[in-house]
Amino acid sequence: MRRVKHTSRDIRTANRYEVLRHIIAESPTSRQELAAVTGLSLATVATLVGELLELRMITEVGFEDSAGGRPRGLVAVNASGGALIGVDIAETYVHVELFDLALNVLARADEDMRPGENRPEQVVGQVAAAVGSVVTQAGVEGARVLGVGVSVPGQVDRATGIAEYAPNWDWHDVPLLDLLSEHIAYPLHLDNPLRACAVAEQWFGAARGRGDTVVVNLGTGVGAGLALGGRLHRGVSNSAGEWGHTTLVLDGRLCHCGNHGCVETYVGAPGIMLNLRELSPQSPLLHPEDQTATIDALARGVADGDPVAVKVVRDTARYIGAGIANLVNLLNPELVVLSSWVARRLGEPLLAEVREAVRRHALARPFAATEIVLSPIPTDPVCLGAATFALEGALRPVGQRGGVRAGRTAPASR
Ligand SMILES: [Zn+2]
Repeated sequence: MRRVKHTSRDIRTANRYEVLRHIIAESPTSRQELAAVTGLSLATVATLVGELLELRMITEVGFEDSAGGRPRGLVAVNASGGALIGVDIAETYVHVELFDLALNVLARADEDMRPGENRPEQVVGQVAAAVGSVVTQAGVEGARVLGVGVSVPGQVDRATGIAEYAPNWDWHDVPLLDLLSEHIAYPLHLDNPLRACAVAEQWFGAARGRGDTVVVNLGTGVGAGLALGGRLHRGVSNSAGEWGHTTLVLDGRLCHCGNHGCVETYVGAPGIMLNLRELSPQSPLLHPEDQTATIDALARGVADGDPVAVKVVRDTARYIGAGIANLVNLLNPELVVLSSWVARRLGEPLLAEVREAVRRHALARPFAATEIVLSPIPTDPVCLGAATFALEGALRPVGQRGGVRAGRTAPASR
């Protein structure tokens, strides 16, 4: 069992990240406000702000009057001080976005992944093409790209950059960052979509300023990102949140992971297609081989009052609700956020059914304390979260960057 040792440098990096996070969320702001919101001393905040000014990630933007006292210096994020790239490698597409330091999207690129085109070298080629495309589109100099955060489904080792296990593609121990570094000349950081979505909600979404939060990802794959005690909960080997592979039905549907009856087999996009097929094998709502078209057809069907669509969404919501009720009973969260593309497309009708199902299955007290909402993030939360991992990496002192692969032709960017 690997033990994580927290050194004072780790804590300093975490504090620096925390201060920058608040500056990005609330610019302009003062050192006094930052001390109040982070709980750090004013002296510590002043030191960290000094370091961020030196890195040109933030700038001084004037003063605000404080009643009777000395005017307070204000700082704001320096949006053009660098660029960050977020890569969302999903089961059916690769989506890449380039952000400025205020995490505004400056460019996007998409690559579709056809069924069967998911060997590591094919995926690496698509990611490299899309990363090249966003840099060109945004017209940023390569030297200004501070890093690329890469999200890939399944279990990942952040320190080694290895995609250890992606059940939907049957990937085992793929050295993804090493492969990408042959094509991409920026520092690379690997994690998975559960963590990316949780961080995106903490920074920009429903979880801002909230307590314990569970971000339920409903896409082709399914899982839960956990933000507990104000921090991302990773578990001892970075695999916390694999809620999609918890058992919902004993001896139920066979899952990619080898188990039977996993949550994902009932509520992931292929599982929802199977729910539809079992109810109405000849349904015109069903687009075999096309998950997004089927989910869109169901969303339209619900809006039109199609009884089959209504029943499939309700049945799916019952499975989701039973699974979320387990999380509510186990973790007693303040907030549950439904995220990712299936949740976005099925929207409010799904949310209403899920709330009702959680109410039926969870204990009354923890249920009453939990708010369940749709993610308010209008863009791809995985790209946004992945970019924040690159930002976090860029704040780590040189020589301390576990998991970073600088490309062979890497420019001396900093
Ligand atoms: Zn499974």
